[in-house]
Amino acid sequence: MKVIHSKTEMQQLALQLKKQQKTIGFVPTMGYLHEGHRALLQEARDENEVVVLSVFVNPLQFGPNEDLDSYPRAIEQDKKAAEEEGVDYLFLPTTEEMYPHTPSVTVHVQKRADILCGSSRPGHFDGVATVLTKLFQLIQPDNVYFGKKDAQQVAVVAGLIEDFHFPVKLHAVQTVREEDGLAKSSRNVKLSPVERKEAGILYQTLSIAREELIKGNHHLKQLVIKLQERIEKETSGKVDYLEILTYPELEAPSVWEGTFIIAIAVRFPSARLIDNIIFEL
Ligand code: AMP
Repeated sequence: MKVIHSKTEMQQLALQLKKQQKTIGFVPTMGYLHEGHRALLQEARDENEVVVLSVFVNPLQFGPNEDLDSYPRAIEQDKKAAEEEGVDYLFLPTTEEMYPHTPSVTVHVQKRADILCGSSRPGHFDGVATVLTKLFQLIQPDNVYFGKKDAQQVAVVAGLIEDFHFPVKLHAVQTVREEDGLAKSSRNVKLSPVERKEAGILYQTLSIAREELIKGNHHLKQLVIKLQERIEKETSGKVDYLEILTYPELEAPSVWEGTFIIAIAVRFPSARLIDNIIFEL
């Protein structure tokens, strides 16, 4: 595995690989790699001749009061995991390398960005779309891999790829979970032992809501209030949102047939966690 810090070197290498008609699979991450990231890398390894992993904590997608400075980092551990998963190139730029000056152009997400995480994290998806546009230019991927754990991100990236005509195929990979159902996340390490135990309630809540919908309970307001109250009574978490929407449009359901998402975000004292389930009715 080769580690690349320079954007010019990354781009020259990618253009050379394209000339050799190699397929490039790309997995963008913020590092502190876990089984969820590994699932993305494994799919990329199976489907491409060359696998590029980026580890970059993108300041543009963090709000002023968010956890940019305390976001967990462990680059030596990440290098080892990347080697184990057969990554060919690890792109590891510094913030100065990616943003040598205040950007003169950024990407603004118009659709699906003012709900769920977009409403509690204004500007977040603009930051995601901007850094991905830059990374796609540097890495020239044929296939990109994202986790369904960040389902709104998958929907936003699908829009970015379509609207900006990137010749890239988007792959959405199933969420990898802990034994109690908690979605694996780099932020889980920030939870106290008590919060970690409480955090299982996110997936429990999603599962209960799905069962209710399958049973034909469409009184969404009452259902959501009841589930939110339970979380806030039984844990130290505060519910940021709990919503049932159509997927991938992320609109309020008008008919009960098709693909739906139940999405949740809970702010614990030590970390904000998100999760979702996507299912058919
Ligand atoms: P992050 O490093 O948190 O930006 O995540 C990088 C990529 O890994 C994103 O596409 C995430 O959706 C994906 N990912 C994170 N956690 C999981 C998980 N538990 N299962 C599957 N994919 C995940």
